[in-house]
Amino acid sequence: MPDDLSVVQSPPEKALLTDLSSAIERLLPALETFTKFEGPDPAARRSIWKSQLEETLPETGAGADEVLRILEEVVIPNGLRTGHPGFSGWVTTMPPTVPTAASLAATLSAPQRWWASPGNLLEALALDWLRDLLALSPEHQGVFISGGAVANLICLGAARQSAGERLGFDPSRAGASQLVEPRVYAGANVHHVVTRALAILGLGQHSLAEVSAAADGMMDVSDLEERIRADRAAGATPIAIVASAGDVNTGKIDPLPRLMEAASRHQVWLHVDGAYGAFGVLDERTKPLFGDWSQVDSVAVDPHKWLAAPVGCGAAFVRDRDLLGRTFTLEPADYLSGAAPGEADLGSPFEELGYEFQDFSVDQSSPSRGLVVWALLKEIGAEGMRQRVGRHLDCARQVARRVAAEPDLELLSEPVLSICCFRIRPAGMGDGPDLDAINERVLKAVWARGRTTPSTTRVDGRLAIRPCFINPRTTLADADALVDEVLAVGRAG
Ligand SMILES: *Cc1c(COP(=O)(O)O)cnc(C)c1O
Repeated sequence: MPDDLSVVQSPPEKALLTDLSSAIERLLPALETFTKFEGPDPAARRSIWKSQLEETLPETGAGADEVLRILEEVVIPNGLRTGHPGFSGWVTTMPPTVPTAASLAATLSAPQRWWASPGNLLEALALDWLRDLLALSPEHQGVFISGGAVANLICLGAARQSAGERLGFDPSRAGASQLVEPRVYAGANVHHVVTRALAILGLGQHSLAEVSAAADGMMDVSDLEERIRADRAAGATPIAIVASAGDVNTGKIDPLPRLMEAASRHQVWLHVDGAYGAFGVLDERTKPLFGDWSQVDSVAVDPHKWLAAPVGCGAAFVRDRDLLGRTFTLEPADYLSGAAPGEADLGSPFEELGYEFQDFSVDQSSPSRGLVVWALLKEIGAEGMRQRVGRHLDCARQVARRVAAEPDLELLSEPVLSICCFRIRPAGMGDGPDLDAINERVLKAVWARGRTTPSTTRVDGRLAIRPCFINPRTTLADADALVDEVLAVGRAG
């Protein structure tokens, strides 16, 4: 027992606990203005807002009014404009109106995804809806987590569990050391979060076995099968095949239908990293590339990409629900339930824990991301999402058509999903560092003009201008504007 149980007369709570409406209303005009994306890009004013914000930890709080003022005057107007209709960089965007409002609603009314509450129910319902939208099987158990990186970690954790159990031990208890020479097969363009997941799971980054590329740059299935056979013969342990759908550099998709056959022939777990491209299955033009996902062992999806949920929302689906449970379930903790086993049931107010998603995840406490995904799917329906995907595939194709028609532009990869890689190439100019430098200069000048913001990648070693269209605010006119801007800057020399 502690010696001193004296109670001091503490001052009251400092944080504002009332006046929610006026605090939010105060920020709304600044937020409305921000979503119009007018004026020069705030990135250029970095030194100003940086000096307005940087300071040491305050001993005395500035108070609610001052914090709201800083949000209104400094933070919001200088925000990151990934929602600008001309923004097509990396694979990221900003949520539309309803998921933004739903996110605020979830913060207060669904502060945890567990316990029987609308937030818990909508977590389950949104996972069901996503499963249906992506044509997964009814058995696929989903779980929301922070993003694609953790989604891949969860799915590969399940693959590791499966491999161990087939050899007669439980990796969640025994660790991975009994998995002799583990091998995870993927193409050269596998996302680096997969490599990191292998490190975390104790398989090691060296367990990644790079499969050769076929002519289109994606996994060569014959090489894959050859490696699996040779590895097994040499005593190594195939854990999983990781397929990209699609690749974040070019938007291409590994040959999924053939990979499914190969995985089933060799009895190896098939995982699909669909963090960027999974929703491409909704368009008739690209659907055949995805194959039958009801067969796939696990899938990583990112609602915070094409679905435009607020960032911090990924989803993992694993077909074997019980296996996923064995991978992540903790021993029951006494304080989580009303009474310890064997004791009288004292009638906990938390008896109805609702759906216990923490048993399928690395998170314990977690917000109800499902509430937000439910809201955005309820708003636009499957139809709205199909139309968005179709529009973005059109944008990439429009860029490709324009590039093909311009003598000074060169297509570096034919669009499959919503990415189109191209570059400027003045007549008579050969490959090499000079051409890369020109493209880099053009891109920076295009950014500075503020109308459109693609990013870059390398395609076969060449620097490419790479728009990736997932932004709900982007239209075909923005795709045209991107090509116009590159031409305008390029011609100005
Ligand atoms: C974005 C992405 C990831 C990483 O996901 P985060 O949401 O950034 O954690 C992994 N794989 C692919 C294919 C991606 O597009």
